[in-house]
Amino acid sequence: MAETDRERRVIDEVTKGLIIGGSVRDATDQKTFGVEDPSTGAILCDVADASPEDGMAALDAAAAAQADWAATAPRERGEILRRAFELVTERADDIAMLMTLEMGKPLAESKAEITYAAEFFRWFSEEAVRISGEWKVNATGSGRVLVMRQPIGPCLLITPWNFPLAMGTRKIGPAIAAGCTMVIKPASLTPLTILKLADILAEAGLPDGVLNVVTTKSTGKVMGPLITDGRIRKLSFTGSTEVGQKLLQQSAEQVLKTSMELGGNAPFVVCADADVDEAVQGAMLAKMRNIGEACTAANRFYVHADVAEEFTKKLTERMGAMSVGRGTEEGVEVGPLVEADQRDKVAELVDDAVQKGATVRTGGQVPSGQGYFYPPTVLADVPTSARLAKEEIFGPVAPIFTFTEDDEAIRAANDTEFGLVSYLYTKDLSRAIRLSERLEAGMVGLNQGMVSNAGAPFGGWKQSGLGREGGSVGIEEYLEVKYVAMNV
Ligand code: NAP
Repeated sequence: MAETDRERRVIDEVTKGLIIGGSVRDATDQKTFGVEDPSTGAILCDVADASPEDGMAALDAAAAAQADWAATAPRERGEILRRAFELVTERADDIAMLMTLEMGKPLAESKAEITYAAEFFRWFSEEAVRISGEWKVNATGSGRVLVMRQPIGPCLLITPWNFPLAMGTRKIGPAIAAGCTMVIKPASLTPLTILKLADILAEAGLPDGVLNVVTTKSTGKVMGPLITDGRIRKLSFTGSTEVGQKLLQQSAEQVLKTSMELGGNAPFVVCADADVDEAVQGAMLAKMRNIGEACTAANRFYVHADVAEEFTKKLTERMGAMSVGRGTEEGVEVGPLVEADQRDKVAELVDDAVQKGATVRTGGQVPSGQGYFYPPTVLADVPTSARLAKEEIFGPVAPIFTFTEDDEAIRAANDTEFGLVSYLYTKDLSRAIRLSERLEAGMVGLNQGMVSNAGAPFGGWKQSGLGREGGSVGIEEYLEVKYVAMNV
């Protein structure tokens, strides 16, 4: 339940039905499901619970709108995105409240996500008019090669709960810019933010049927038939590696083009020559952004033995001083985790590390009371056999390991099936370059604790994913290449 008039207004204003072909409709049999406030466990509101037939209706709408949308002038597509960027920015306070209510993160963090999310609309509004091709004379001189890029067609976009807006705009922005229609399925834990965004896009002038929103609890049953229906040409998924692997198997049937933004297990390496205060500052961002519920969250800290105690002490002071509470309250820096299962998994990983010999420097205990809170936790002397050395924690827990040689740190950092991002702190330029080159990750934060940037290619190596979002390559994921062999 919303607790203040403002919270109630923000919830009341959101569309709660399915958005299909520009109309808002109930699900088959009027089925709904509840959206929970993770700080209290109370239900905020109910939204439509789509059936497989509803999912198919959304695909019908996307397929019907595709040809006209692809023929729309790139400038017009760009201007719709630009207007949406402005509307999202103007309404950041209300969207932040909505996001905090359904996801739990503090309002300041929700606002930071909104700024980041809106940047994808601004970036792709500019990219819409820069889709280019190629023209060249054949090697033999007798013919010409014309290369063009065309919208790939209707897309299926599936997003997670941890960044309810940005994971959507990172897909919707390039799809709109490229001239693709889409069906989006937000996470069932946090569907409200995308529903709000869909209304904003309609207000910005997005034609009916270009963006269709399906909320459902029967996710596999509703998504499966869409993935294997030949009309979907592209699946862009952000979520766990486990679900991503299933979707890749399903995508094989239609040989779907896929983008997969999957799990992470980021190492954070602090060399002996690093500026320890800056490393602690970066660690706070890399660890505590989004309450640690980020694919880019630092999962394992490898700190040189010469600076390990200083780093651990300073990080412990900062983490231990953070205020934990309901994200809507003034001054709160750490909200609840998104659900009980997530909180229990974090507690289990900490208990496992402690049983195996780790020392708790701060935190480490589930608090009593309502909501799914877990305190900022620092663990020292962590043995490499601890489960959290291998598994994504997705919570506010910083396990610290030590090393003495660069080779040892790089071997440990790369000893994972994931490869999304790595962080590296060193003041030595040649070490920075050498080690950055050896880290097996799609992104490296060099002397900085955050890499997210709409203008840069975001994505992972190994089991962290396929493809890139953002940057100048981001739009390519939504375009097909066609080559015309010309006999002149
Ligand atoms: P998840 O359980 O994999 O769910 C992600 C999305 O997939 C949700 O919308 C979910 O729907 C849907 N889904 C689940 N099962 C499905 C199925 N059988 N068919 C089709 N869709 C299905 O992940 P999550 O817990 O929401 O998100 C956390 C994970 O996302 C972490 O591993 C994190 O690292 C990763 N992530 C990666 C990036 C990146 O850019 N690499 C960014 C953010 C998060 P329901 O909500 O209805 O279950």
